[in-house]
Amino acid sequence: MRVLEVASEATPFAKTGGLADVAGALPEALCRLGCETTLVIPAYREALAKGLPIEPTDLAFEVPIGTRRPVARILKCRLPDARGEVFLVANDDYYDRPGLYGSPDDYPDNAERYIFFSRAALELAGRQATSFDIIHCHDWQTGLVPAYQKLLYKSWPAVANAKTVMTIHNMAYQGMFWQWDMLLTGIDWQHFNWEQMEFYGQLNLLKTGLVFADAITTVSPTYAREIQQSPGGCGLEGVLAARSELLTGIVNGIDTQAWDPGNDPHIPRAYSEHDVDLGKYAARVALAARLGRAAPDARPLVAFVGRLAEQKGVELVVELISRMAGSGRAHFVVLGTGNRWYEEALQRTAASFPGTVDVVIGFDEGLAHLVQAAADITLVPSRFEPCGLTQLYAFRYGSIPVVRATGGLVDTVVDTNPDTLARGVASGFTFDAIDPMALEHALGRALDAHADRELWTRLVRHVMRQDWSWEHSGRDYVRLFERTLSRP
Ligand code: ADP
Repeated sequence: MRVLEVASEATPFAKTGGLADVAGALPEALCRLGCETTLVIPAYREALAKGLPIEPTDLAFEVPIGTRRPVARILKCRLPDARGEVFLVANDDYYDRPGLYGSPDDYPDNAERYIFFSRAALELAGRQATSFDIIHCHDWQTGLVPAYQKLLYKSWPAVANAKTVMTIHNMAYQGMFWQWDMLLTGIDWQHFNWEQMEFYGQLNLLKTGLVFADAITTVSPTYAREIQQSPGGCGLEGVLAARSELLTGIVNGIDTQAWDPGNDPHIPRAYSEHDVDLGKYAARVALAARLGRAAPDARPLVAFVGRLAEQKGVELVVELISRMAGSGRAHFVVLGTGNRWYEEALQRTAASFPGTVDVVIGFDEGLAHLVQAAADITLVPSRFEPCGLTQLYAFRYGSIPVVRATGGLVDTVVDTNPDTLARGVASGFTFDAIDPMALEHALGRALDAHADRELWTRLVRHVMRQDWSWEHSGRDYVRLFERTLSRP
């Protein structure tokens, strides 16, 4: 099976969140399962600055964008040990900028940047000698691809018979733009209607993908149910409910090579479930040094790593720390970047509790690994969470997650209670209400469990032994692709 993966970010090239982890690892997992994969991403400045083996190709072509025809130059990269091929779409006007989408505010021409990218990806695929069976698109940035394939590229043999699959990583980001951006797409105005590309007078790129794709997936079964209702569907619940027989939830895997406490350049001492205490101690010494402290803290380390966005329940974390830091039961470490207000609130909290709360504002992949390795407990108090990777990384590094029971967190974390302990399936602590007291209660249960060394060791060993690799999820995707291909 030949699969084209189209995504706006992918590790190790460019990353703002979990989408990059998925788009980086899934193509390789599919290759291991016998597929041939081609990944297409934009050639961002930061991707080109990483010293990866990216090379020019002879391929360059004009892409119609409204009345203009900007040129897409195609670059290619073959990573060491990688089986799939990677193409990068270069156009310096669009992608030679800081960051990916613009920060703190989105770039004003993001509609044009991703209309160009989506069309260029399909033109590139259409120019290949062999045809694709599946075109797999991720999130709003690639939402136009299924529409282009059906409406404008039907006569291009390499993509004409492909089936398109649209994966939703987050319903809250839909790529909504003013209606006149429709002119840039080159798609006929007749499709700007409430059943296809329009959403309350605006152009909605995610909706476009959901309407035109042959199959839809999202990143966990629980989230697949949540988005067919309000508020999870963020206004598109009707579109999804109408196509629910085509919607599947597949939990993300994790890249077990990139996230491996047994072999991780970001942590000082390799460890496994058998010597996790030694590994964690070494990581805490290194983390203390990074935080400018002479020695590591002896208390349990409670960590939060994530985007500082409303979705992630950051205000619960701020409230929780304010309520609990005074008790001295734990040492809190937060790593994140995003909303300025949250950044400042966290920094103020850290200043109020010196020695007990450390806040690092920034995006630092290496530090994220070190924090997970050092942590005993990882907080994921999200208001909603399509899948969530942080809790899966926590498992792998022997940190026990405390999570809100929503979306993919429901599908991956089993609350600890006498029954789940007896069955050997307990893997974390969950709470329901979006309320700092509920989080505090769940964390309190986790800290009580931490004080029971035998119980804690059992929990840590169990979570570290779990297999959340792409092996399983990759198989689910292959099965879904096969089902989609077999449908008329
Ligand atoms: P989302 O995609 O919604 O941001 P996920 O849990 O799926 O959430 O994935 C988040 C990914 O981004 C993880 O790999 C996490 O380690 C990483 N990450 C988030 N914030 C930071 C940060 N400030 N520094 C380093 N890595 C981060």
